[in-house]
Amino acid sequence: MPDSYIESIYRACQLPYTRTAPLPTHTPRRPSQCSPAVVGCDYADLVPFRPEAVSATGSSTGEIDYRLARLTVVNSFRAGRLARHDVCDAHPELVRAAREVGDATTDDCPICDEAQLVHVTYVFGPRLPAHGRCVTSPAEMARLAQRKGTFTVYVVEVCPECSFNHLRRSHPLTTA
Ligand SMILES: [Zn+2]
Repeated sequence: MPDSYIESIYRACQLPYTRTAPLPTHTPRRPSQCSPAVVGCDYADLVPFRPEAVSATGSSTGEIDYRLARLTVVNSFRAGRLARHDVCDAHPELVRAAREVGDATTDDCPICDEAQLVHVTYVFGPRLPAHGRCVTSPAEMARLAQRKGTFTVYVVEVCPECSFNHLRRSHPLTTA
């Protein structure tokens, strides 16, 4: 398994709750604790990525782009080094979030090529659920940006058909 492979939430989740205090490995709670019908719902434990394990490209704005890591995963799948269940392992609630509140893209799924990827956005920071909040509207994002403290936005791309998922980018939440 390549170092850049993004592990499933089922295996481990070590997302940084803050820049200085990484989350401990935890056991996911049951999906039934979360209702995707609620805007701003806490899709707790549904973040299927481990950013610190991913090689990425940074920018002066603090945005980190994970497309190279994604390419590595896709190439590994195509070369037979990763099985489909390794890369199409989105939590059912993440897939549901993608279908119900995700942002559509024009990017074809690199695994099944049968659907277009959807972006689901999570924010981590003070006084948010320990495993992030799924943010579904610009207004909600703006409200979070007004809060005190450092918040980080993670965008996950998900295929609603085959459950492929990968971290796409992250950046600090700012009011700009
Ligand atoms: Zn797919």
